[in-house]
Amino acid sequence: MRSTPLHPVARLPEEWSASLASRGERSFTAKQVFHWIHRRGVLDPAAMTNLPARLREHLAAEGLGEVLTPERVHRSEDGTRKLLLRLHDGATIETVLLPSVSGPGSQAQIDADAAAASDDEDEDDAADAGATPRVRVTQCISTQVGCAMGCGFCASGVAGLKRHLGAEEIAGQVLLGRAMLEEGEELRNVVYMGMGEPLHNYEATARSLRLLTHPEGINLSTRRVTVSTSGLVPEIARLGEDFGGQIALAISLHAADDETRSALMPINRKYPLEELLAALRAYPLPRRRRITIEYTLVAGQNDDPAEARRLAKLLRGIPVKINLIPMNPIEASSLGPPGLERVAAFQEVLTQAGYSCFVRRRRGDDVSAACGQLVLLGAKPKVRRALG
Ligand code: SAH
Ligand code: SF4
Repeated sequence: MRSTPLHPVARLPEEWSASLASRGERSFTAKQVFHWIHRRGVLDPAAMTNLPARLREHLAAEGLGEVLTPERVHRSEDGTRKLLLRLHDGATIETVLLPSVSGPGSQAQIDADAAAASDDEDEDDAADAGATPRVRVTQCISTQVGCAMGCGFCASGVAGLKRHLGAEEIAGQVLLGRAMLEEGEELRNVVYMGMGEPLHNYEATARSLRLLTHPEGINLSTRRVTVSTSGLVPEIARLGEDFGGQIALAISLHAADDETRSALMPINRKYPLEELLAALRAYPLPRRRRITIEYTLVAGQNDDPAEARRLAKLLRGIPVKINLIPMNPIEASSLGPPGLERVAAFQEVLTQAGYSCFVRRRRGDDVSAACGQLVLLGAKPKVRRALG
C-alpha cells in the first residue's frame, strides 16, 4: 500500500472526474486531462493548451509534471534500446525497447512473440496481410527499484529491494517509451519483466495495468500486456480475479522440483511448486490462450534432461508454452548458462513431450539490456548518445 497521495499521472478518468467536479470544473475536462497525459503523453500542464489557465495552474500545484527523467539511451547492435531513467528521489531504473520487423515467420518476430507471450499473432498477421511492413516494438518495464525476491542468478535480486515504484512511474515508462519510437515503429506489447517483482508491488502494478489498457489512454490490448512473476500465489489469484484472466501471465519457473527451485529462488520456500501449479490451474485463462513458462537455464543447476522430463510431467494438462532462456551471466554471481548442446537437449525433451518450446535469443546483450539483467547502476555502454 502506498501511504503517499495518488500522483496525478496515476489517476484514472473517473478519479479525475471526481477531483475536478469537486472544484466545479465541467465534466468533460476530466477526459481532456486524461487524454493529454495518457493519449498524447504530455505531462506538463503549461502545454495543455485547451485547458483554462486556472486549471493548468491547479494541476501544476497538485504536482502534475514529468515523473521520469531520461538520462541515457544505450543502443545495442540488434536495435534494442535500453533507457536509463532517473526517478524524483535520484534512484534509477531501466526500461528496454525491443523492436522486431513484423512478418509471419521472421526470426525477429518469433523472438518478440516469445518475449511478449502473445498467443494469437497469426490471426492478426493474417488480418494485416498486404499492409506496409512495420516494426513492432515490445517494451520491457520495471516495477521496483531492485527486488526483494533474492533469486541468485538475477542482478535485481542480488541488489535487494530499494523501493516500490508508483503506478505513475510504471506507466510513465511506457509514456516515455512510446514517445521514443522511431519512424515505422509501433508499440505492440508491454512485458513486466524488468527490474522487480510486479506482484510484490500489487497495488501499483494493477493500477498501471488499468492505465495502460484504458481505451481513453494508451489503449494497449490486455492480451498484449504480460505480467511476469516469480510465483506469488495469492497475488496470482488476485490478478486473475481483478482482470478476469485477460492479462497475459508469465511464470518464472526455472525448476521442476522443490529442492532445485528453492535453491535458485527463495520464494519457493514460501509458495512451493504444488501451490504454484494449483494457482496456474485456477487462473481464469480465456480460451485458446496460454500461460508462458519462463525457464532460465543455469549450468549444473536446472539443466539436466531429467529435469526437463520432470517439467514435462509437472505441466501436463496446463495450457502453457515454454521459453527457455540460457542464463545471462551477471557480475555478482559465478552461475552461468549451459552450452548450446545442453540447451538443445533440454528443448528436445519438451518438444518431444508435445510442448511448444522456444529458446529465447538474448537481445541487447552488448548493453546488458536483456530482460532480467537490468542493473541498478548504469552499465558501461558501447554506444552512448544523447536523447532527443
Ligand atoms: N520478477 C519477475 C519479473 C522480472 S524478471 C520474475 O521473476 O518473473 C524477468 C525474467 O528474467 C524472469 O523470468 C527472470 O527469471 C529472468 N532473469 C533474471 N535474471 C536473469 C539472468 N541473469 N539471465 C536470464 N534470465 C534472467
Ligand atoms: Fe526479482 Fe524476478 Fe530477479 Fe527473482 S528474477 S530477483 S523475482 S526480478
